[in-house]
Amino acid sequence: MLRRVAYQTVVAGLCLLVGGCALNLIGFERHESWRQQAERACMARKPQSYFVHQVKAINGKGVCGISYPLEVKALEDGTIGVGPDATLGCPITTALEIWMRYSVQPAAFVYFGMPIVEIKQISAYSCRTRNNKRGAELSEHAFGNALDIAGFKLANGRVITVKSGWNGSADERAFLREIYSSATRTFKTVLGPGAAYHSDHFHVDLAHHNKDGTYTYAKPKPPVVPPARRPFVGAKYAAIPGQPRYGLATGYTGSIKAAPDQVLITDQPPSYEGSPFFPAGYDPSAIAGKYDPPDPAKGIPDEAATPEMTNLSAFSAGD
Ligand SMILES: [Zn+2]
Repeated sequence: MLRRVAYQTVVAGLCLLVGGCALNLIGFERHESWRQQAERACMARKPQSYFVHQVKAINGKGVCGISYPLEVKALEDGTIGVGPDATLGCPITTALEIWMRYSVQPAAFVYFGMPIVEIKQISAYSCRTRNNKRGAELSEHAFGNALDIAGFKLANGRVITVKSGWNGSADERAFLREIYSSATRTFKTVLGPGAAYHSDHFHVDLAHHNKDGTYTYAKPKPPVVPPARRPFVGAKYAAIPGQPRYGLATGYTGSIKAAPDQVLITDQPPSYEGSPFFPAGYDPSAIAGKYDPPDPAKGIPDEAATPEMTNLSAFSAGD
């Protein structure tokens, strides 16, 4: 405690000297320059749409806030609803899309034979400390750099929750463990069942745990080695105007209240034969073991595209 007070005094002194600090309820926290840099770099290449669009800058208490907040109704060109709508920074939004494309959707096809059509989120931007504990450090949620995910809705309406699925049926256990493990390649903090306060959701964020932000912290440790899977191309197919898009049909209770006119919806489940999600003749077994890395030239930020998983136990992290 004394050390922390001393540290804050030093930081406060530096703040007076160089500026760039603000007082929050907990103490002095620095405005970290990497945050705005990451947001700016991401926004420069972020396509905006009905589903993801910029809203007014958020200046919360103390240093809470987002310079370029996005209102996120859905990811991946509207094919994956986010319910309820989430206010997030650009970097975490892009990282979520990468995770969905390269891991979650391919895994959903393997275990359930259909894509995810909605993420159930329970906390996006929120000016608070880690795990809402008084005196704790500010959460990455306070910067719009984190998302808490409680579950996923499949195209047929089935809902997979972290709470019941983690130790649930074999397919749900395998799916959740695979996508949890692969999340440690995309995000910098990944928490789930086994970590305090996380028995019912995954927390993912892009915190910098070391100076250059290369460390990843995960608790529990990734329970499986995520298999390499072909990126899910369904979003691209479905994003073509006129293409059927599965999953937003009647009964959909997610966040997309009024989809744009060019989005057609269908209640026909996709299949490999004649599927709008895969090219004709697609054979999932033919690509087993192959992995197409993200292509930065196509607008995917380098930092999120680089799989890294180092020194997983060196840092403590929280919600
Ligand atoms: Zn969280």
